[in-house]
Amino acid sequence: MNEQLDTVIIGGGHAGLTMSYFLSQAGREHVILERARVGERWRSERWDSFCFQFPNWTLELPGYKYLCDDPEAFAPGREVVRFIEGYAAFIKAPTRCGVEVTSLERAGDSSRYLLSTNNGAIEAANVVIATGPYQLPVIPPVSCDIPKNIFQIHSSSYRNPAQLPPGAVLVVGSGASGCQIADDLQKSGRQVYLSVGRHSRRPRRYRGKDFAYWGPALGTTEQIVDTVPLQLRKGSEILLTGANGGYDVDLRAMAARGIVLLGHLQGINDGELILADDLTQNLARGDESLENFKRAADDYVTKNGLEFPAEQEPGVKPNIPSSVSRLNLKDAGVSVIVWASGFRCNFDWVRLPIFDEAGEPVHRRGVTQFPGIYFVGLRWLYKRKSAFLLRASGAEDAAYLAERIMARS
Ligand SMILES: Cc1cc2nc3c(=O)[nH]c(=O)nc-3n(C[C@H](O)[C@H](O)[C@H](O)COP(=O)(O)OP(=O)(O)OC[C@H]3O[C@@H](n4cnc5c(N)ncnc54)[C@H](O)[C@@H]3O)c2cc1C
Repeated sequence: MNEQLDTVIIGGGHAGLTMSYFLSQAGREHVILERARVGERWRSERWDSFCFQFPNWTLELPGYKYLCDDPEAFAPGREVVRFIEGYAAFIKAPTRCGVEVTSLERAGDSSRYLLSTNNGAIEAANVVIATGPYQLPVIPPVSCDIPKNIFQIHSSSYRNPAQLPPGAVLVVGSGASGCQIADDLQKSGRQVYLSVGRHSRRPRRYRGKDFAYWGPALGTTEQIVDTVPLQLRKGSEILLTGANGGYDVDLRAMAARGIVLLGHLQGINDGELILADDLTQNLARGDESLENFKRAADDYVTKNGLEFPAEQEPGVKPNIPSSVSRLNLKDAGVSVIVWASGFRCNFDWVRLPIFDEAGEPVHRRGVTQFPGIYFVGLRWLYKRKSAFLLRASGAEDAAYLAERIMARS
């Protein structure tokens, strides 16, 4: 007979652990099935120089704060892992590591669910899917046309410059990951080309406060999913870094340091990149997003009568040499391409009709149309902050789902 359980959480990242915290508080029996180790993505899918992108004072999960000497510093990736491990121990999370769920379906005609795993089958009344918002690396099809002698790697597998063959590097994608990796490579002495897409700029600090202060202050982190148009939710990524004590990610300054900025990669023909003529436009959009942010922050300071220090007038923006429309990889000495082109969900193993045409889960605040099947930790699950670790952002969602699970009994 299959093992019978009340509630199973799939995934031992911070979202699964937060869910476990609220179920334990309510006295509800449950287990967490984690295919690898607790906090696995922070262990094996971040580069060596990666630091948490928000200051230490924001590193928090329900009932548990990160203890450190400098609240304004940025924790290296290994410290984030230590923090998540510490949390799992603190809440006595009932975790079974090394157990991968390979399929989830209805258990016959019953109202229970059958989970097949590499360690036997389990039946449960409630299943919370907490397998993360960034599951499978996305590499665009154009990668198939790249000459075979060029080494290709996705940002999730990038660790450090020494791991790559010598030569110049093309980084495709200018989100937070692409920019941080481009900087990492450039600092090691590599020539770096960066294919730039749409992005949003934010200052690391503004008027004496870290960016982490401004999200809640301006209400952006609390925005509810239906109040923000889909286009804006899926829109451009915010450029931030916690590396080297945290600094402004400014593509113009990166260009001034020697990184060659390129337009959006459109294709490749006979070893030559075909690039869109959109660099100036994307940089201008990024600048505009920064100005909009500053205006909103200034208004907030004025309205609330806060005595925050004024910002210095920005200096002259470094000029960007006009972008090229074609780049021959051999002539440019490019031997490596890093695809910082994002991630997608992978729920192929869930055999329940709870997905839309794009394969995205259909739910309301994590509650699906199948009684007892829930999602937690997804981007915009309910609010903008839903998927983030900082400030125990997922606590509200997990507490809500725990209430729903309790109500089921
Ligand atoms: C490069 C990068 C940098 C980031 N930096 C920050 C940051 O600085 N601050 C911040 O707040 N957020 C950051 N984020 C976002 C944050 O990492 C994610 O939102 C967060 O990891 C999501 O947590 P989670 O618990 O939902 O999922 P995950 O951390 O992805 O955990 C899911 C877990 O589920 C397990 N799993 C998956 N499938 C199965 C299965 N079938 N069976 C069993 N187990 C399974 C995985 O092994 C994994 O451990 C970053 C994201 C990326 C990609």
